[in-house]
Amino acid sequence: MLQLNNVETFYGGIQALKGIDVSVEKGEIVTLIGSNGAGKSTTLKSISGLTKVKTGNIVYKGSDITNKPAHETTLLGIAHVPEGRRIFPRLSVKENLLMGAFSVKSRQVIEERMERAFHYFPKLKDRLEQKGGTMSGGEQQMLAIGRALMMSPDLLMLDEPSMGLAPIIVEQIFEIIKELNGEGITILLVEQNAYQALQVADRGYVIQTGEIKLKGNGHDLITNDEVREAYLA
Ligand code: ATP
Repeated sequence: MLQLNNVETFYGGIQALKGIDVSVEKGEIVTLIGSNGAGKSTTLKSISGLTKVKTGNIVYKGSDITNKPAHETTLLGIAHVPEGRRIFPRLSVKENLLMGAFSVKSRQVIEERMERAFHYFPKLKDRLEQKGGTMSGGEQQMLAIGRALMMSPDLLMLDEPSMGLAPIIVEQIFEIIKELNGEGITILLVEQNAYQALQVADRGYVIQTGEIKLKGNGHDLITNDEVREAYLA
């Protein structure tokens, strides 16, 4: 479904990705793990078009999407929930959700998608008029994922959904990730919480200073000595 071939991405003179190869098959949960500054977020941004790829290419469902702008990758079915959620703090929950369906004209489709978001996150329904910025961290993460679901994505990319959340909320978020995957949404998950990510993932990549250091299925990585020492300690 998605292939990154030898992708190199720079921020000015800083090379954040040094030629990475990553693939995601339809229906999988794939995780990228690695420490701070390894290039995980840059990988997602390179896919969704938020940063420019210098060399290499990205193929999605057979089409070259390298350096397509973010509004176009969204329309192709790629939803990116960025690190730190980035909801619209002054807009209500409902308005935030509607932003996720910006390209949809049909009222009925919008309502169906909203009901689907409420199925996963019932709390959003009770808080429709609340300003996004006044929601708790966990609620904002749910809103951010809910907004992404409003696009009805085929590929959902989540950047550190567990960051800063209480363990019980993290559990809930991971349960929902599994449920969404069970409904056919392919997931690319970036996490510092490597243990939890590898437990839900079919496959994972370990990224270190812009390079893929290891790859394998979730179980192999979770039991790998190098991974245990560096990321699961
Ligand atoms: P974290 O979990 O801390 O976000 P990460 O693995 O997601 O880490 P990236 O955010 O992709 O890492 O960063 C990769 C490298 O690119 C780092 O060295 C970082 O300092 C650099 N970088 C990221 N964004 C920018 C930017 N906008 N301008 C300059 N350098 C950047």
